[in-house]
Amino acid sequence: MSSPNIASRVRATVDLSLQGRQVGSLVVTHSDNRQPLGHYPVPVIVMAGGKGPTVLLIGGVHGDEFEGPAALMHMAQSLSLDEINGRIIILPALNLPAISASSRVSPLDGVNMNRAFPGDANGGPTAMLAHYIEEVLLPQCNAAIDLHAGGKASVFVPSALATRVSDQSLYEKNMGLARAFGAPVIWQLGGYNDNRSVNAAAARKGIPMIAAELGGGGGCTPQDRDLAEQGVRRCLAFLGITGGMIETHPPPRVVSVASADDNLYAPARGIFDRRFKAGDEAVAGQPAGWMHFIEEPERPSVALTFPGSGLVLAHGNRGMVERGELLALIAGDVDTDDGGGA
Ligand SMILES: [Zn+2]
Repeated sequence: MSSPNIASRVRATVDLSLQGRQVGSLVVTHSDNRQPLGHYPVPVIVMAGGKGPTVLLIGGVHGDEFEGPAALMHMAQSLSLDEINGRIIILPALNLPAISASSRVSPLDGVNMNRAFPGDANGGPTAMLAHYIEEVLLPQCNAAIDLHAGGKASVFVPSALATRVSDQSLYEKNMGLARAFGAPVIWQLGGYNDNRSVNAAAARKGIPMIAAELGGGGGCTPQDRDLAEQGVRRCLAFLGITGGMIETHPPPRVVSVASADDNLYAPARGIFDRRFKAGDEAVAGQPAGWMHFIEEPERPSVALTFPGSGLVLAHGNRGMVERGELLALIAGDVDTDDGGGA
């Protein structure tokens, strides 16, 4: 039996066509033991004034990354409607059940929201939401920003992520947003990107978009939360939605992850005695730390070295690690040809 071909099962309690400030929910109807006949609300804040562009601001795609959600909640309450020429759609906790549970993936269906696109109108709760974002919201937007952090598992160099799409015009718009965000690093997503992410959804719809990775650790670090809000505000000015000067900041370092072979992965289960941090320069063959086999004390510890050279974009943040776990994400410098300078 085929499913009915419906547009979306997600319903917004706000009217996106109205001017002014509205606070409401995206209503996800999903029947389970906790909500047999109810729904799961996803918070949405809309601020609209004038005829300027529309931007979609997303936080909480992963439920153990709190810097973006905190920044968006603070900004939504401190930004005045008088300042806005356009429309700002804020989803501060797209995966609210995951945020509520401090869990990377949704506790409702175990799905990673950033691997759920293009989604499915007739799928589970995460797939229904992803489908709504890609097919209903993104096509109404002129730009989108998706705020991430390392969560419990990792810590990132603060970076803006721009997809290196084949459409040169869209690529330049992505890079323009990334430069406006003002993080010290721009991470270009190419072959390493996953076509089930928000970035990939925006690329499919031709919408300029950046993500950001802002520190990590699973808490809410003040400087990373501040960079999230300042970066979003710089992008709002860049897009012409808010006024004011776009402040200049040091030119970012532009990198990409050329090969997973450059990354350091745990060769076995044990304690990873890390001797580096995100932001360091990795040199192939140089020491990265030791593996201590705490469950087998008679087994000698093993020295680990970096497989490749480059910027340590992220370090794993766990003490006890499993075989195959990412310990260091290594990125190399790339030449940019978007006309934006070094
Ligand atoms: Zn994330």
